[in-house]
Amino acid sequence: MTDKKNITFYPSDKLKSLVKKLMMFPGVGERTAMRFAIFLLQAPKHFVEGLARDIITVKDKVKLCSRCFFIAENDLCRFCEDETRSRRKICVVEGIEDVISVERSGSWDGLYHVLWGLLSAQDGADVSQLKIKELIGRVISENIEEVLIMTDTSVEGEATAMYIKKVLSKFGVKITRPALGIPFGAEVEFMDTATLRKAILSRQEG
Ligand SMILES: [Zn+2]
Repeated sequence: MTDKKNITFYPSDKLKSLVKKLMMFPGVGERTAMRFAIFLLQAPKHFVEGLARDIITVKDKVKLCSRCFFIAENDLCRFCEDETRSRRKICVVEGIEDVISVERSGSWDGLYHVLWGLLSAQDGADVSQLKIKELIGRVISENIEEVLIMTDTSVEGEATAMYIKKVLSKFGVKITRPALGIPFGAEVEFMDTATLRKAILSRQEG
């Protein structure tokens, strides 16, 4: 999302400083950032104080699970701590939004592993930036029987899936991919629950 015009005049340096910070949010350009800043300017003080507190609390208290890199408030996330889940299966996804989508589909009772990105020639994301080394470590140390690679069906998603399949092939773990109903270019995060459920339940080896 890009703004059509830059804002050339700022009535206050303090406001400008806030707008510049808000512009660092994904998808937020200068005009949207200015709208947010003006909204905050007009909002009741208790709302703004609550928001500031929430931001600091999230930054201080919420971290990444040391095992699967999903969001956690303790060392492990709620999935890794949950003894009732199937602990020999890992669903590999690009980001935390994908975990939420898969979980919402109600078709996965195993654990997760969040890569925090996909391999991409364009933006230079390389293997070392993704949590692939950690995934290999888990496959070995947790005696994993199945790895479901649930990346997007984009070029980057497919490249990442192929790479993971290759590096895991020597460990004798079963690699599965979702089978039905996922068109090329689909993003897991935005897939509807029924499609996702069908794709996971009919997953195939390979
Ligand atoms: Zn976890």
